Amino acid sequence: MKAAKIILYDFFGSRIGKSILNLLSHFVYANNLKKINKKNNNAPKKFLVCITIDTESGYVKDNDERAWQKDEPEAYIGYYKGVENWRNLLNEHNAKATFFLSTNCFNARNEGLTKIDDQLKLLLKEKHEIGLHMHPDSDQALQIALKEKFHYTGAKFYDYDKINKFIKIGKELIQKNIGINPTSFRWGNWALNTDAVKALQANGFNVDSSATPGISGHLNAGMHYDWSKAREHYPWKLSLKDYQNTISQDSKIIEIPIATFKLFGVTLRADPVYSELLNSAFDHYYRNADRSEKPFAFMVISHSIEATHEDGSITRVIKDMGEFINHAKKLKDVEFVTVNTAYKGINQ
Ligand SMILES: [Zn+2]
Repeated sequence: MKAAKIILYDFFGSRIGKSILNLLSHFVYANNLKKINKKNNNAPKKFLVCITIDTESGYVKDNDERAWQKDEPEAYIGYYKGVENWRNLLNEHNAKATFFLSTNCFNARNEGLTKIDDQLKLLLKEKHEIGLHMHPDSDQALQIALKEKFHYTGAKFYDYDKINKFIKIGKELIQKNIGINPTSFRWGNWALNTDAVKALQANGFNVDSSATPGISGHLNAGMHYDWSKAREHYPWKLSLKDYQNTISQDSKIIEIPIATFKLFGVTLRADPVYSELLNSAFDHYYRNADRSEKPFAFMVISHSIEATHEDGSITRVIKDMGEFINHAKKLKDVEFVTVNTAYKGINQ
């Protein structure tokens, strides 16, 4: 299975593969995006692009396979080189981004910890955002703080008390180590649930970006996540009764979902691993998303580890994201902003 994925990835990275993706990209669309019958003569508000980077241990292997944090929790290069390679790209374009941080990095020692600390400080100095990212099963700093081993990623495997502790301790680890108070959040592998919404509210978070509208996965495994019923592409307030309910809007937490799109019936995330398709998804949203009253936020996802090989050199994901930024920034009203900047724009 893995091998097939990599063969496809290599194929679509080739010149002929890219031209095929370019042809396919005419079939990219998102359900319920267009607000039909909406009459409004206001000038459109901004089209905000939020580049979000889940920041973890790991790296891209020479054969393009990923070593994830779960496989190699001590491969801290995913933090210091991953973040550095992203920063170089973002700063070159003066684009601001959000780094959802797995607190596993605070288990690094000596030179590794110093390098990570330097990169995180630079992120803040350069006005990027650091939010919290939750992987209970591979976050060694969290496990040490709670004196317990955890074996699942998904929130659904834990009770409210445990989830509340994960979020509270995660936030404290960030405060203690880098002196900021994170207010944005993404559960690892998108595996949020209703108790996690309650815990986010109890811990003073403003905004979550775990939703992948229309997508579920790993349904019989520890990485289980399910957004098959939540199909909304515009931000909503999360529900305290059922996290997939986009109507009741009874919490204070704004969900800004990851942009998802369809291609031949398959729903995909806005992610630079799909190279040309990311540009097409952006075009579709740019043309169709309603911006008559509020700015629209187009949420793109990637990972720190996908920016670095084991030797620290940059990867194809960085090159493809560079092409995407060049593509998007030509259009009127497009701005690359952090999640909290988008939150403020939307919540006005
Ligand atoms: Zn993650």
